[in-house]
Amino acid sequence: MRPFEYVRVGSTSSLADLTAGGSNAKFIAGGTNLLDLMKEDVERPDRVIDISGLPMNKIQRVPGGLSLGALATNTETANHPVVRENYPLLTQAILAGASGQLRNMATNGGNLLQRTRCNYFYDTAMPCNKRDPGTGCAARDGLNKIHAIFGWSESCVATYPGDMANALHALDAIVRLRKPDGDQRQVPIAEFHRLPGDAPQQDTNLEQGELIVAIELPVAAAAFAGRSYYLKVRDRASYAFAMIAVAVALEIDGDTIRRARVVLGGVAHKPWRAAETEALLVGQRLNAELFQRASSAAFLNARPLEHNAYKIELGQRAITRALMRAAHVA
Ligand SMILES: Cc1cc2nc3c(=O)[nH]c(=O)nc-3n(C[C@H](O)[C@H](O)[C@H](O)COP(=O)(O)OP(=O)(O)OC[C@H]3O[C@@H](n4cnc5c(N)ncnc54)[C@H](O)[C@@H]3O)c2cc1C
Ligand code: SF4
Repeated sequence: MRPFEYVRVGSTSSLADLTAGGSNAKFIAGGTNLLDLMKEDVERPDRVIDISGLPMNKIQRVPGGLSLGALATNTETANHPVVRENYPLLTQAILAGASGQLRNMATNGGNLLQRTRCNYFYDTAMPCNKRDPGTGCAARDGLNKIHAIFGWSESCVATYPGDMANALHALDAIVRLRKPDGDQRQVPIAEFHRLPGDAPQQDTNLEQGELIVAIELPVAAAAFAGRSYYLKVRDRASYAFAMIAVAVALEIDGDTIRRARVVLGGVAHKPWRAAETEALLVGQRLNAELFQRASSAAFLNARPLEHNAYKIELGQRAITRALMRAAHVA
């Protein structure tokens, strides 16, 4: 591991200086992703700013919804009674990730910013535009079984690996950010992560030195509580990232679908909204045949790579199953 300066902050007042231009500073929260990447020489910060002492760990009701502090752990968030009651999709998604020990350390902010699990990203002997811009993409013509089928570019075919963000996307969450100078802004989760384009080194639209303060769940998303489901398909039942994940949330009026959210994980550089599927569902009555037809529509524009065309059929089946579970259709 390379030498770095470690600074622990108790307030946000010094962040502007610590993250000033030219600095390659990185925040550390739970450390479950950053430290691994530093040990592998993939992340090379010259300064590590420990934010775990900042007062950003509360989960509380706010006007318009529920605020999840960026430093609340994944375990605290998944088990919070209001999350369980009003946003069970989020509980399911978090509990589908990692392991109990990791979720006890992992924070909500760090979870959103976890980096891809592309094998070549971790292997410093291989070219990787995300790790070392301009070197090429070893996965494009390499072993790309776990890679993207939507939204990739010639520069990068990686997927975003997280589970929590898929559920947050389906629930229309807002990410609250603080700039180094103290100004705050908020970004819809749908605009938080980005596609690789020709700058795959940037996973998100976060600016240098910006801090995630909280994630907010809107009241309106609680209407999905009774009819939502998170399905994760992976190589083994625990401690594995998604080959395909599906976050489904439905709002029902009688037996008619009033609102639908279908978000896929493991298929793109960001959580991927299956808008074609949602459009076919809205206004229709719950039934298995509809679910199958709507699931197929999600993959009409898929662009599989050499080793990952299996994600199309797997994804169709996963969406159908998640819709059946969410809708309580046998
Ligand atoms: C073996 C293993 C299996 C895993 N399996 C899964 C899985 O199945 N599903 C899943 O979703 N995840 C999985 N994870 C990932 C895990 O959930 C993340 O490592 C964790 O959520 C990161 O949170 P952290 O607080 O430890 O982040 P850190 O490692 O501290 O930070 C991660 C990144 O976020 C930045 N950061 C942290 N907090 C903030 C903030 N408030 N504002 C701005 N920047 C910030 C850091 O600078 C760093 O770049 C797994 C991890 C491991 C090691
Ligand atoms: S897919 Fe992206 S992360 Fe993987 S090798 Fe290519 S550039 Fe690197």
